[in-house]
Amino acid sequence: MYWPEKLSLAQLPTPFHLLPRLSAELGVNIWLKRDDLSGFVLSGNKVRKLEYLLSKAQSEGATTVITCGGLQSNHCRATAFACASLGLKCHLVLRDGDKRQSGNLFLDQLAGAMVTVFSAPEYTKNLTGILRDLACEYEGKGEVAFVIPTGGSDGVGVWGYVQAAFELQGDCAQHNINPSHVVCASGSGGTQAGLAAGCALAGMDCEVLGFAVCDDERYFLDKIARDIESWQSFYPEVRIPSPLKFNVNDDYVGLGYAKSRNEELVFIAELARTEGVLLDPVYSGKALFGLVSEIRKDASRFGSDVVFVHTGGGFGVFAYEQQWQQILNC
Ligand SMILES: *Cc1c(COP(=O)(O)O)cnc(C)c1O
Repeated sequence: MYWPEKLSLAQLPTPFHLLPRLSAELGVNIWLKRDDLSGFVLSGNKVRKLEYLLSKAQSEGATTVITCGGLQSNHCRATAFACASLGLKCHLVLRDGDKRQSGNLFLDQLAGAMVTVFSAPEYTKNLTGILRDLACEYEGKGEVAFVIPTGGSDGVGVWGYVQAAFELQGDCAQHNINPSHVVCASGSGGTQAGLAAGCALAGMDCEVLGFAVCDDERYFLDKIARDIESWQSFYPEVRIPSPLKFNVNDDYVGLGYAKSRNEELVFIAELARTEGVLLDPVYSGKALFGLVSEIRKDASRFGSDVVFVHTGGGFGVFAYEQQWQQILNC
């Protein structure tokens, strides 16, 4: 199969293992793909996309990388550190309104990224223009700017999870399992798009199920289709078997992006205590909470084995201090 050039930034392959106590309780084996362990400051799903995106940036002679996200964006933090490791400048355009304290915003600045924060309405209304103007500004100073869209989800970033799906196929073969579902959190859709295309290419007969953490089912079905279409137009040499098997569940968005209900945080605490695994409140916590709730409702919809891709985000737990105090009485 055709593979484009990529950088080696992540610690790959990531581990793969069963959650023994949760699986016994549910009567369905829940296997974790530990992409939360893809690195320390580079941790999570974004580094897989950045291996391809930043390789393209370098091949185009980029000197400054511009990207965007929420104030606590994991994608922006990973980009800041990846750029630092490559000797590239990094400028982050961030949307105000998420939790402010500590976490990723601090790490961005520690890694030397330039940060510009816009109010949520201004960001939402003008993002494309803001990124374009900033790129022009850098170009005017003789820099070569490379703009990465939200979450690194575009026709190039898709490769990260196409490759991850092949890794996953090997993990499943090694454990002799045929999962009914490969499950992830969906925020900008690129992870699920890559998994959907990659699982089909790798010959895995499973449904790729995304739990939305913002927006709704319609939005993600369109976004995933668009990312795959754009990927196909960039790399016509890859033939994907159709139709792809993917679905989106938007029943667990809860209070909205980066807002947690107490039961979600209680679930995160339970998983930490019973399995020694740290989920994050914005993505993996919501998605695994959703998956476990769906299995409890009707386990027959799932086979004997399900894979959950732990996409990382651990630094996010520090932005919820007050809510944790209420829940944990500490
Ligand atoms: C960005 C992110 C996701 C969502 O991935 P998308 O490709 O944007 O849909 C899931 N989990 C974590 C921890 C993330 O940072």
